[in-house]
Amino acid sequence: MRGLYIHIPFCIKKCEYCDFVSFSDCYHKKAAYLSALTEEMKIYRGEAVDTVYIGGGTPTSLTTQGLEFLMENIFRYFDVADDAEITMECNPGTCNLEKLKALRTAGVNRLSIGVQSFNDTELATIGRIHSSNDAISCAVDAKFAGFKNISLDIMFGLPNQTTETLRDTLIKAFSAGVNHISCYSLILEEGTPLFERVRTRQLYLPSEDAEVQMYDVACDMLEKSGYHQYEISNFARSGFESRHNLKYWDCTEYIGCGCAAHSYYNNQRYTNTTDLDEYIASPLKKYDVTGLSIRDKMSEFMFLGLRKTKGVSAKDFESRFGSTFYFEFNEPIKKYLDLGLLEKGGDFLRFTPEGLRLSNTVLCEFV
Ligand code: SF4
Repeated sequence: MRGLYIHIPFCIKKCEYCDFVSFSDCYHKKAAYLSALTEEMKIYRGEAVDTVYIGGGTPTSLTTQGLEFLMENIFRYFDVADDAEITMECNPGTCNLEKLKALRTAGVNRLSIGVQSFNDTELATIGRIHSSNDAISCAVDAKFAGFKNISLDIMFGLPNQTTETLRDTLIKAFSAGVNHISCYSLILEEGTPLFERVRTRQLYLPSEDAEVQMYDVACDMLEKSGYHQYEISNFARSGFESRHNLKYWDCTEYIGCGCAAHSYYNNQRYTNTTDLDEYIASPLKKYDVTGLSIRDKMSEFMFLGLRKTKGVSAKDFESRFGSTFYFEFNEPIKKYLDLGLLEKGGDFLRFTPEGLRLSNTVLCEFV
């Protein structure tokens, strides 16, 4: 069954590293945005979905009433499975117990809390609006509100971060008793304030070697604490893997609604405008509508599927495409098997632990 992604492009303040489509000075447009979003959702009336992911931006920067309105419309216009996973991204600086209880009552059953770090100096440097104590309170309140499926986002490779401060952050994350942790490296995006501060040497990022070491430390600590790695950056207690994100890596179709949302629907990929005013004026307009060739689909199957630690299934590839990936991608597969970055495990082709650390380089060769 398809998944549904909803984009809420509002934030209280832009973080220093952020190049996502989000706006900190458009709060007066929230009502108009929710109306436009409703118009877009109507065109999918009756579509069956079994995962919903409300991301941003900062969805929880909307008022409780705004969020309830959004949830009502999701249930009104989509045929949401009874056992659907319904995730909302949550910024600790924008939530309290009352709002979290309202979200739970409205049907949200999974929270993804953007913690990034439990070190207040690191949080201030990257321009987050919350403190580490806010993040701890948010996780406690979420549990009190009835959430059993909670994920924390943690970042490494932050300015002046060390392996020791990352270790402290992870220990605090474990003590929050959540079932899922995403651990991402900072991507320094051109055009962001952080990029400028690094370029002008006001701030220093950890070296590449230090970053690899941080990734190793994080993987090791997470595994030892009972979070198994199921994707390059994602770790979960058994049964708490993100069903929605697995759809992306499994090349399952999904509907995206909202400014800048992407969709993979009826065999086509397309995007919505990233211009907020244009979206509000014309929420049904689609861009870059691209039908996928067989070769495109094969490539996607490989570079998305290999992100999962279990890898890609030879049988699955053959049943979809009537050919084998050993034939279609003979050169890169042979090269990385020989280098020990890929390995075969029964029906699956997957990264070795060493390959996971160099995954970006390897995945590029399947595009
Ligand atoms: S909260 Fe997220 S989307 Fe908003 S500015 Fe920060 S990183 Fe970007």
